[in-house]
Amino acid sequence: MYYIYKEATFSAAHRLRDYHGKCERLHGHNWKVRVYLKSETLDDQGMVVDFSVLKEKLNKILDYLDHKYLNEIPPFDKINPSAENIAKFIFDRLSEEFKERVRVHRVMVWESEGSCAIYEE
Ligand SMILES: [Zn+2]
Repeated sequence: MYYIYKEATFSAAHRLRDYHGKCERLHGHNWKVRVYLKSETLDDQGMVVDFSVLKEKLNKILDYLDHKYLNEIPPFDKINPSAENIAKFIFDRLSEEFKERVRVHRVMVWESEGSCAIYEE
């Protein structure tokens, strides 16, 4: 199995509902995201997927989140905008882009240095 990953960042505010602690009040993070793709085979150029293609697809998803108050935009108007839920959101959106040879393997979301949530299937 071949794996590649791409990292990107976005900035967004959130507050956690039904939560007692620092994250219950409105605040922002510079979120770091790392997405892994996997494939058993390579394309004609010897790649899982061109990094620039992955970057473009990832940026499209992160643009939706960037400089937003996450609690106001779907699905985070209904579910808590935790790092875990953001990781699954990115996983699901990115999976819509890769349905054939290449699959999304894992999404990691850091809300701060040393605090990271991981989603994989
Ligand atoms: Zn927070």
